[in-house]
Amino acid sequence: MTQPALDLVIAALEKIREKNSRAPRASKTALARLQDAPVATSQQEACTSPTGRPLQLENKADLLAAVRERVGACTKCAHLASSRTQTVFGVGNPDADLMFIGEAPGADEDQQGEPFVGRAGQLLTRILKAMNFEREDVYIANILKCRPDMPAGSFGNRPPTPTEMQTCRPYLVEQIDIIQPSVLVALGAVAVEGLLGTRAAMRELRGRWHTYNSIPLMITYHPAYLLRNQAPSEKRKVWEDMLQVMERLELPISERQRNYFL
Ligand code: SF4
Repeated sequence: MTQPALDLVIAALEKIREKNSRAPRASKTALARLQDAPVATSQQEACTSPTGRPLQLENKADLLAAVRERVGACTKCAHLASSRTQTVFGVGNPDADLMFIGEAPGADEDQQGEPFVGRAGQLLTRILKAMNFEREDVYIANILKCRPDMPAGSFGNRPPTPTEMQTCRPYLVEQIDIIQPSVLVALGAVAVEGLLGTRAAMRELRGRWHTYNSIPLMITYHPAYLLRNQAPSEKRKVWEDMLQVMERLELPISERQRNYFL
């Protein structure tokens, strides 16, 4: 795309955004990225990943598909490869500004092959809608791509072990590297441990900005915690964390959203 064409696109997006608070989905950060994008000499636009690796914007989906294929055939954790129904790679917009990271697939996710589809996932979808996002606007992935196995005959889910997280983490690193989100959100202490290697109480971690590979990282409670603990004060904390995320993405926040309780 030539520079005048880019300017036209940016001007048009800004105009539409002024008139309508919901569409198109283009934060100021994204617009700034567009503005700063080097003008490509070919038909394709080039940009650079946080690790300096050149990346074609339009190839993000293809790059993710290649990682998904490797994950689908992965047997690095033999016990999980033999117990899983399928791997659960990730879902959403390959060029998302906002990326959520959870810990591992549960029984529902293992069955459906998509992260956050059980009760906790439905709550996450409600949180996204309150932020004016659809699931397909953001990207959602877990530290672990296989469901942690459970003893035969037992129900429920178990958290992944540090070794399992360490083994699977490189796939998540690749996903983040390809998507290059403006903001990351880690859901729960296990996700934080898997991503940063940091173990700490959620009350010390959540509600403030951290960084992962120079990307701003907000830490908040896992939606499953909110299902177990229905106290309005806890729900409000998660919503306040999401308001901080919206501010960071420079998204418009209505008075109704400011006063919202999950
Ligand atoms: S959890 Fe990750 S590393 Fe382990 S087998 Fe599954 S995809 Fe491979």
